[in-house]
Amino acid sequence: MRKTRSAAFAATVTALLTLTACGGDDASTGAEGEVAQPEVDTSATFEAGTTMAEVQEAGTVTIGTKFDQPGFGLADLEGTPAGFDVEVAEYVAAQMGVSPEDIEWVEAPSARREDLIANGDVDMVVATYTINDKRKERITFAGPYYVAGQQIMVNADNTTITGPEDLAANPDVKICSVTGSTPAENIRQYLASPDQLVTFEVYDDCVSAMQNGQVQALTTDNVILTGYVAENEGEFKLVGEQFTEEPYGIGIEKGNTAFCEFINESLTEMAESGAYEEAWTATAGQYEGTEVPELPELDPCA
Ligand code: GLU
Repeated sequence: MRKTRSAAFAATVTALLTLTACGGDDASTGAEGEVAQPEVDTSATFEAGTTMAEVQEAGTVTIGTKFDQPGFGLADLEGTPAGFDVEVAEYVAAQMGVSPEDIEWVEAPSARREDLIANGDVDMVVATYTINDKRKERITFAGPYYVAGQQIMVNADNTTITGPEDLAANPDVKICSVTGSTPAENIRQYLASPDQLVTFEVYDDCVSAMQNGQVQALTTDNVILTGYVAENEGEFKLVGEQFTEEPYGIGIEKGNTAFCEFINESLTEMAESGAYEEAWTATAGQYEGTEVPELPELDPCA
């Protein structure tokens, strides 16, 4: 009798401990799994005057990322973000001798990214940031470290919109995106009139607009939408295929070739060491419908 009771008690304790562990993880970091801390390189030497030398000397680096995108950059209540972008940024910072807790994070909404870099408010931006020529007029990109594609998300019970081609035929449907993002620009060609597009500063506001019926669709990169589908169980679904290519780069000061090359070397090392795959699996890779990517071929630093 005693034996049975204590066995049952042990089982209950184990179950409770397991529940607590899972619950704790989920509550603090959304979809994030266990991510190994990057190994901080304290022995690297950099040429004086380079961004890397300055960062190493300061012992800190300021990085812009998203705060409202599950899987890529989602901030907790203290403003500490988690996600694949955050992992990539932390890896690069570690190569300059900066550990994750010494990074200063700044929220970088889509339309503010070039300004943050050009004004010198951040050292780099890692924020689902598509490399394109217009942005290259003001900043330089390292990477790409990932290639996403634009897609459309609708309410789970919507049968009218099955892809961008259905938007013009349904002029009452409003679609949301974010100011200064590539998807907001690209979707215009599919609309009956410009009024069909509703824009906000951040994607969180588009998700709220979907929930309160102000808009019926949301468009941005597939991997961002996948996060919203997963985090709002049963509410939303993705429709149609990806209809653009969005290569994600790391935005830095225009013309800082040495920093760009250093970041590209760090990305290569991240992939070769397995840290890239590990980072993906623990973050964006937790969501259904995502595949482990390979590091794309890097652009030369011009
Ligand atoms: N990758 C696209 C962009 O850079 C959309 C995602 C975003 O707004 O961050 O504009």
